[in-house]
Formats: sequence, structure tokens, C-alpha cells
Amino acid sequence: MEFPCVYTVTTVNQLDTFTAELLQSADVKLFLIEGDLGSGKTTLVQSCCRQLQVIDVVQSPTFALVNEYRTINNQVIYHLDLYRVQSREELLDIGIDEYLYSGHYCFIEWPQIIKDYIAEKYISVYIEHADNNNRQIKLKRYE
Ligand code: ADP
Ligand code: MG
Repeated sequence: MEFPCVYTVTTVNQLDTFTAELLQSADVKLFLIEGDLGSGKTTLVQSCCRQLQVIDVVQSPTFALVNEYRTINNQVIYHLDLYRVQSREELLDIGIDEYLYSGHYCFIEWPQIIKDYIAEKYISVYIEHADNNNRQIKLKRYE
């Protein structure tokens, strides 16, 4: 897999194949995941976490803002959902830098509010859900 690129997946099985390749190809651990409500952002993070052998339940951190998971090797993984965050100040309140620059895997849903704040390489994942079950996933790498 090279960046930028576009993939189409139809099932969660295909998604698992896709995320396995994505994680293998990526030289960064920060992923910004955009797409409308129901497009499949959380499902994609769940799939990534399966690849990374997370032992915790992976679910949307919409209310918590941040979920922290562990892998079987005791590696930390962060899963953020910034849907409810309104301002830069709130981001600083939750200690956003700790997650962005921790060196651990970090998956962020609804990342628009921090996009121009990030001073770290990341992969942008943009999901679009068509009328059928097809989901188009666009990947770009930012420095
Ligand atoms: P979001 O986090 O973007 O709001 P979700 O990940 O919660 O969206 O997905 C919404 C619904 O779509 C869920 O029922 C999920 O099972 C389904 N879904 C998401 N991605 C896929 C996929 N690649 N294949 C099949 N179903 C999917
Ligand atoms: Mg979600």
C-alpha cells in the first residue's frame, strides 16, 4: 500500500484485510479518521485494534472523548472522538498533546478541529458510505 490511495470495502472481513495492510504499510501511528455519522469510523478502529491484538472492548468514545486500550503485549492504544469538542481550549484541557505525541497508536474520530494544530506526521483516513454496502476509503499521508 502506498499513499495516497483509495480502497473500496464491502464487508467487515474485507475491512480486516484492508486494515492489516494499512498498519503494515504505515510508518506513523497517528490516524485521523473522517466521515459522516455511520460511515464506519468506529468499525475501522475496531478492525485496527483487532490487528493490533487489543484485549479490551473497543467502542465509540463519544462521551468519554478518549478510550485507552491495551494489547496482549501491554502496548497502549488511544482512541479519541472529538465530535463534542468545540474549542482549542477544551483540547488542551483533555491534554491532547499527550495523545498526539505519545508514540503510541492513536486513532482520532472527528479530527477536523485539530487538523491544523497537529505538528506530527499522520495518515488521514476518509470514509464514504455509498447507497449499497460499499465503503470507499481514501488514504493520505501528511508530514
Ligand atoms: P461511525 O463511527 O462512522 O459513526 P460506525 O463504525 O459506528 O460508524 O458504523 C455504522 C454502522 O455501519 C455499524 O452498524 C457498522 O457495523 C456498519 N459498518 C461500518 N463499516 C462497515 C464495513 N466496512 N462493512 C460492513 N458494515 C460496516
Ligand atoms: Mg463512531
